[in-house]
Amino acid sequence: MTCQQPHRYSPNFSSLPDDQSKFNGRHKCAGCSYDEGYRLGLAKSSTLNLDYAGLPDSQAGKVRHKSVQAAFAKGYMDGVLASYE
Ligand SMILES: [Zn+2]
Repeated sequence: MTCQQPHRYSPNFSSLPDDQSKFNGRHKCAGCSYDEGYRLGLAKSSTLNLDYAGLPDSQAGKVRHKSVQAAFAKGYMDGVLASYE
């Protein structure tokens, strides 16, 4: 599965650290990882789980080669902040 969502080109992810590691062998979409973190943050979920294997691959855009862990954490943070607004 390859991500086709427009967040592939979002400049919001340009500040995330690059991650060229071979973690699990595939390049996963940091945008989808962010969205998952955001969803959990907004719900103030007390259990955080990043389903790395379930993330779509990323073949293009600004989110490729970005750290999915950092994207997830940023998404969670933004989601928690949004829950207070
Ligand atoms: Zn994506």
